[in-house]
Amino acid sequence: MGQVIAFVGLGANLGGDPARLRATLVSAWRALSALPGSQVEATSSLWRSAPVDASGPDYLNAAVALRTDLAPQALLRALQVIEDAHGRERPFRNAPRTLDLDLLRHGDSVVHSAELTLPHPRLCERAFVVRPLLEIVGDGQAWAADLTAALPGLADQPLERLVCTPDWPPG
Ligand code: AMP
Repeated sequence: MGQVIAFVGLGANLGGDPARLRATLVSAWRALSALPGSQVEATSSLWRSAPVDASGPDYLNAAVALRTDLAPQALLRALQVIEDAHGRERPFRNAPRTLDLDLLRHGDSVVHSAELTLPHPRLCERAFVVRPLLEIVGDGQAWAADLTAALPGLADQPLERLVCTPDWPPG
């Protein structure tokens, strides 16, 4: 298929320990950059969001653009392996609890299968997806206009861009 740009949304919720939260996303970023035939091309800021449709601790979110040889299904499976490696319940205090990786877009692929929907069906519904994505999507991308158009409707979703994050983006 040749290389395409895929966009991946990252989210972590570790129950209020910001350093562990960042460490989880740094580790996930490194795992993404180590995928076969793949390089991270762009990385958003870190954003803190309140849970949507749920109570509980804040989330930390980011998005990356990944240049990749992997086909959509193969990339989804790779994301699930990374989630499993980070998201397992572990028995000790402050252990990493949740990592969520969403395949938001894969080039211009349109997929409707049992395991995978592309573009991601809730791409424009979550401020914590739209605003990180807008940081890394070039103006030349036609679908960036959909993200911008969605912004006013997402204004009531609490979201804060973290400005002082020395370990982010990972090098
Ligand atoms: P979640 O609870 O958000 O991690 O949802 C994961 C489930 O959504 C898995 O069963 C995936 O097969 C499915 N899924 C469908 N489309 C996508 C997508 N574009 N990115 C990630 N997961 C997807």
